[in-house]
Amino acid sequence: MSRPPLTVVLSSPRGFCAGVERAILIVERALERFGAPVYVRHQIVHNARVVADLERAGAVFVSELDEVPQDAPVVFSAHGVAKSVVDEARGRSMFFLDATCPLVHKVHNEAVRHHEQGRHVLLIGHAGHPEVIGTMGQVPADAMTLVETVTDARSIAPPEGPLAYVTQTTLSIDETADIVAALQARFPAIVGPRSEDICYATTNRQRAVRDAAAGCDYFLVVGAPTSSNSRRLVETARRAGCSRAVLVQNAGEIDWDALKDVQCLGISAGASAPEVLVTEILEGLEDRFEVTLRRPPGVAEDITFKLPRALEA
Ligand code: SF4
Repeated sequence: MSRPPLTVVLSSPRGFCAGVERAILIVERALERFGAPVYVRHQIVHNARVVADLERAGAVFVSELDEVPQDAPVVFSAHGVAKSVVDEARGRSMFFLDATCPLVHKVHNEAVRHHEQGRHVLLIGHAGHPEVIGTMGQVPADAMTLVETVTDARSIAPPEGPLAYVTQTTLSIDETADIVAALQARFPAIVGPRSEDICYATTNRQRAVRDAAAGCDYFLVVGAPTSSNSRRLVETARRAGCSRAVLVQNAGEIDWDALKDVQCLGISAGASAPEVLVTEILEGLEDRFEVTLRRPPGVAEDITFKLPRALEA
């Protein structure tokens, strides 16, 4: 039986960023160097396949440090941790490796600097996300206010005095610009980051999806529901005019019936999604369709981050 034609647009760049590659490598190197088990506080990155692969290699994922034996190495996830977590590890003389992405550390440092210089800090981000919990934990609780929406920006009542803002690294570029504009309208003297807090990987993936999605009638973003940057890619595709944009964790979650009338399908992947998941989806598509693959050139990424000194060769 002949297969229906389908054009597939592979958005680029997609998938792993430098911070995620570094975090996974830290766990892999720690396993090589110290042997299993290596404990990891929280999902090292938000992806079930990555976590399952590392578990098979001997990583043990825990929610809190009190689940880690005193003499075992522990890795902090790429999303960053509150100061209290580092203090607890030091207080218990634990051997820890910090896989916090350096671009998240940059935001931590900005927040601390603003606090030390007497500014109340507004954090633009999503409540409950591990990165937001970690960033809020860099300063005393009353020194930072979370701003999630333009409505928040118009209604929050920060303490009198100088203000600054920082942002989560994985937000929507467009929505964040609207929130910043609303804050600047109300607080003209507010101080912002010298360079964008939204990271290069988030920015590049959103721009690529925006360009690819405009000509697609269905869009798949590969990523976990807990992955902030993946969810923003779905929103970006919808905003670019592709209303049928969905998040899937793997090929098994695809609604194949929904693809029956599709002529042009876009695919991207969040920064924590391994490329093998995209490959498996392409294989599933080729089984069902006569696929014509389009690979628009995207921004080349050549950023790498150093490993912690304890793991350097
Ligand atoms: Fe770092 Fe950005 Fe990747 Fe997050 S998405 S780990 S901030 S490079």
